[in-house]
Amino acid sequence: MNYTILDCYTDEAAGLGVPPYLGTYPRYIFGILKSKGYDPKYITIDDLRLNMIYGNKVKEVTGKDKTNIRIYNLTRKDITKILDETDTLIVNLGVHVPGKYLTAVPGTLREITPLLKKLNCKKILTGPGIYGTQLEGGKFFEKGDMSVFDEVKNFGFEFGVFRMQEYAIKGAGIIKQIPDYRIIEIETGRGCNIGHCSFCTEPIKNKFLNRKTDEIVEEIKLYYDMGCRYFRLGKQSDFYSIEDPVRLLKEIREKCPDIKVLHIDNVNPVFVVGDKDFEKTKAVVKYCTEGNIAAFGVESFDPVVVKENTLNTTPPVAMKAIKILNELGSERGPNGMPKFLPGINIIYGLGHETKSTHECNMKALQEIYDNGWMLRRINIRQAAILPGTDMEKKFGNKYLRKNKRYYWKWRNDIRQKIDFPMLQRLLPKGSIMREVYTKMYDGKTTFARQIGTYPLIVGIKGRLPLKEFFNVKITDHMLRSVTGEVV
Ligand code: SF4
Repeated sequence: MNYTILDCYTDEAAGLGVPPYLGTYPRYIFGILKSKGYDPKYITIDDLRLNMIYGNKVKEVTGKDKTNIRIYNLTRKDITKILDETDTLIVNLGVHVPGKYLTAVPGTLREITPLLKKLNCKKILTGPGIYGTQLEGGKFFEKGDMSVFDEVKNFGFEFGVFRMQEYAIKGAGIIKQIPDYRIIEIETGRGCNIGHCSFCTEPIKNKFLNRKTDEIVEEIKLYYDMGCRYFRLGKQSDFYSIEDPVRLLKEIREKCPDIKVLHIDNVNPVFVVGDKDFEKTKAVVKYCTEGNIAAFGVESFDPVVVKENTLNTTPPVAMKAIKILNELGSERGPNGMPKFLPGINIIYGLGHETKSTHECNMKALQEIYDNGWMLRRINIRQAAILPGTDMEKKFGNKYLRKNKRYYWKWRNDIRQKIDFPMLQRLLPKGSIMREVYTKMYDGKTTFARQIGTYPLIVGIKGRLPLKEFFNVKITDHMLRSVTGEVV
């Protein structure tokens, strides 16, 4: 039996699997199949597009062209042969946290359905997409033609801790089929220990479970020994609640001394502000690499919205956590970026949102700025309404519809009045960013970014060779990106 994994990429509140990230789902599926004695092939949605839409031709990017990011993440295999020989195709798909990606476009149900109809093999849908998927915020989940699939299966979720380790370890071999670098998204736990946020599917998908420290280290070391150097401990609802974050980070650094990127993702501000939590923040600053961000899922600074949507933190707690991270983490590291700063997520369209919600958000963000603190990034998005969530059951798109006409203005307010001066504070003109990796062209501009969590985009005049590292001096600021020149 020939199995092929088609990775359409995944993005969830707790876990990223859009290139350059390699998510947990394809790796675990690979491990499951390996443990059953199969030899699965891994291909990407980009491979499928190149093969079935672009006639296997990658056009040279010349003149005013933009790099085609729909066919950027290729495995460079003979896709026609692989598809011809495939008995079962396992499709990994699902975006729950819609975002924009510099060099990837996740596959949607709507996109892949006509392509899959042309394939003569058994098809299984898996990944977070089985709980619904939506690439754009502010909308209900996408309803695709599920008849194209022979099975819709909970492949990635249906095993406990012990077997998860077996699959994680056996799944690591997948990396040999991916020619470009990947940031390996590492799972430290699943489910959520406190949350019941109205928009989130994590508590629906998984019971709260922490992975054992030794098991996480074992998986990272395995990838490290195969040459991987970029890691994010990103698949969890709260990094500070895992089994032993201090020992985990210390051991990773001891066992993987040449690691180039070690970042984390979600942090619940509630678990940052306690007296005993300081040690955890200090350990993150010490053992992780610079440019690191604690993604605080604040979602709203409006106390009414916080209460009605049972969000995970209150505005005063979020403020305290932001202060602590700034005090302990804002020193710059060798690549020019502050070591460890907070990032804030804001969501529009939550239950009971009113005009004063935006006023609360602006007031809080202005206060953060006026206090001299830094936010490494503010993510603003409209809620996607996913099945089984309180958002779907209690509010639907009532508030999204009601306030939609304000969203552009609200977002723009945050971008102009907060993001822009914050970016100037974060990286003043003339500062140097090291090890910036060139990613793509848009006309005569090359876009580059450092490797890591939510890296800042740098626009550089002219066409530099792609997929190389440069040091860059900051010449100006855009709303959410910077311009620079090579030094
Ligand atoms: S804290 Fe809220 S958003 Fe985060 S994982 Fe838990 S329920 Fe989801």
